[in-house]
Amino acid sequence: MDLSAISDNIKALKDRTKAPFFMAVVKGNAYGHGLVEVARTAVASGADWLGTAQLTEAIALRNAGITAPILSWLYLASQTSDTILEALENNIDVSLGSVHQLQVLAGIAQRLGRPAVVHLELDSGLSRGGARKEDWAELVAHARQAELDGTVLVRGIWTHLAWADVPAHPGNASAVAEFEDAVREAREAGLTPELRHVSSSANILDRPEFHFDMVRAGLAIYGLAPADHLNPTDFGLRPALSVTAPLVMVKKVPAGTGVSYEHQAITYEPRYLGLIPLGYADGIPKGISGRSVVDIGGRSVPVIGKVCMDQFMVDLGPDATGIDVGDTAVLFGDPATGAASADDWGAAIGSHGDEIINRIAPRLPRIYASSERASLDGASSEGTYECPDYQEPAAAGQDNVA
Ligand SMILES: *Cc1c(COP(=O)(O)O)cnc(C)c1O
Repeated sequence: MDLSAISDNIKALKDRTKAPFFMAVVKGNAYGHGLVEVARTAVASGADWLGTAQLTEAIALRNAGITAPILSWLYLASQTSDTILEALENNIDVSLGSVHQLQVLAGIAQRLGRPAVVHLELDSGLSRGGARKEDWAELVAHARQAELDGTVLVRGIWTHLAWADVPAHPGNASAVAEFEDAVREAREAGLTPELRHVSSSANILDRPEFHFDMVRAGLAIYGLAPADHLNPTDFGLRPALSVTAPLVMVKKVPAGTGVSYEHQAITYEPRYLGLIPLGYADGIPKGISGRSVVDIGGRSVPVIGKVCMDQFMVDLGPDATGIDVGDTAVLFGDPATGAASADDWGAAIGSHGDEIINRIAPRLPRIYASSERASLDGASSEGTYECPDYQEPAAAGQDNVA
């Protein structure tokens, strides 16, 4: 885990936005990178806010002594929730997307003796959290009344875009227009939200007009591509996470040897196999079988046969000269070093790098380093990137149509 990459990425992203506030999103154990370590690095690198989905992660940040503002947006609203109480006690801002949530928060705030600080969430089309526009006026009216009662304080208004990862999609502009209407309505009702926030990574890179008062950066601070057309290196971003393992066995096998369960791979000539002590229990996807994604001593070698629970095999070829037990296999890392990236792994299994990094299991030890590598290697691309217009994908197949 190269924390200096996270630091450099945050600085590069902050250079791309005029929004006065920058949130580093550290949900999901900081996308698998380690909640507290990343949060500390983010704050030291200029992040004004931290964002988590779960309240327990926000509380863990406070328990680690982190005092930066935190917003958390996913919780079960229940009057008996100790977690909500603890979050409010710890000055954690929470998202608010329904009158029910508001009533629960107000009740807990009353017990606590100070208002719950909230960011009202508009559901602008994701159909996830937040209030839909037809329910917005009611939520805003209740929020204003709760402010007058001293149980709630509305600090922000926010939304998350359904087309967040397709910045030029027209759905974004219409969602943002809906968001602006929602802010206007809230102000007309007497609320005074200081922070309007909409954009996650792809729109930070691609749509400056959506930045408002704060941006919420996740994937990009970890150096991964937030959208297929946005190559992290073009923006001076690099991955922070490399996954490596030692080769624990190297052996020669004859032609016709079946490899791994059900012998889905069979050697056609004498080959050398290497054994890597990581498997699907560690987050290695089974779909990576057959892909040349593992770097050993500068050679890119394929995963051979089925991935097992704790281990998998690589095909070292007919000649393994120079390769030995104990050599380091780089599964993925910074492509500038010649290794595959998590984005390459994601593409190989028909997904994205975000799924790969998030699945790396907690049991893998995280080793933190700050590399000596000069910031951004002069790879500044400021002013060289133009936002493209949206193009319908050639074959606009839609799965999952209900
Ligand atoms: C995950 C998340 C983000 C960050 O998204 P990235 O694409 O990783 O930058 C921002 N806002 C919300 C609400 C999120 O859930």
